[in-house]
Amino acid sequence: MSFSLSGERFPELVVPSGLPKSSSEKIVLLVVRGLLGSGIEIRLSQRLLTTVLSRVGNEAVGRRLKGLVSAGLLVKVSSSSSGTVYGKGKRLASRTRLGDETARLAKFLFGEGGLCSDLLERSAFCHGKLNHSGLIVVGVLRRCPSAVSVPELKAYLKPLLSPMRINTAIKKLKLCGVIAVNSEGVCLVSDWEFFLHKYELESGAIDRVNARNTKFETQRDQYSRRLGRLNLADYKYVVSAPCVACGRPAGKGQEKEHFPPKFYLRRDLGFLESAIDHWSVVSSICRECNDFYGAWVTKNRSLPLPTFLDPFVSLRCKKLDEDKRVLKLVLQRH
Ligand SMILES: [Zn+2]
Repeated sequence: MSFSLSGERFPELVVPSGLPKSSSEKIVLLVVRGLLGSGIEIRLSQRLLTTVLSRVGNEAVGRRLKGLVSAGLLVKVSSSSSGTVYGKGKRLASRTRLGDETARLAKFLFGEGGLCSDLLERSAFCHGKLNHSGLIVVGVLRRCPSAVSVPELKAYLKPLLSPMRINTAIKKLKLCGVIAVNSEGVCLVSDWEFFLHKYELESGAIDRVNARNTKFETQRDQYSRRLGRLNLADYKYVVSAPCVACGRPAGKGQEKEHFPPKFYLRRDLGFLESAIDHWSVVSSICRECNDFYGAWVTKNRSLPLPTFLDPFVSLRCKKLDEDKRVLKLVLQRH
């Protein structure tokens, strides 16, 4: 079954009955399921949660995720400083009706190219006061070539949003100039993105997001410093240096090199995972050299730890091939 809104066909919104009753919990689940796509698990960092899901604070989103885990809809796979990895809970397994219907709805709303996907990170909805209901209304309206009557819009979104929430969303969107209401119904104004941005500036939503990001960066830098890792500014500085192996100036996709290679750091030097990124063992390397040396080390793991502190060996030769030859000699040394 499909709906026609201002001449545009929309698939019926089938909201499975097993989803959480609370609409915010439902949205969080659909967003996570949409981002998961056909993957098995997804890492949700604090930053992602904040930009995508959080309106007031991470605590509220954290509580909702916890609720979804205890309801068997999501499962917590692992947790680390870079975020928590979630997967599908038992109840969302594929080939069950609930699993398939949820996946379809999540994909339609928040999956790749979905109705609302590229609007998710707009501060207006999550950090402003336009909320997820505003997000969904804008998502639908931007696909409609002309005005949509409000009763039709309500009938279409009924499985997802109550008429009251739709009324509030329309009122707020009209107030900030994003939509126009006339006798035909509601539609986005032609320069709605300009008005959305204006609202984000004037309501302080962008400021709140920036303040959040700065806070997270400071926290991450403090954490890195405690572990002897490069902070963000140091990291940017390090990877702006020429490749440590071939000497080429830093380019796009410059990477972080570990020397001695991580494998030896763990096996022969007993580095703990928390110390693997210590500033003293990382430098700048181009992707090509990193791939080359990485593959080489993987193939030659039986070799002992290289004696890399050799005054006669320079890893900054003129030619890439020469560098690779020299590094091979160093690694083979007993
Ligand atoms: Zn290189």
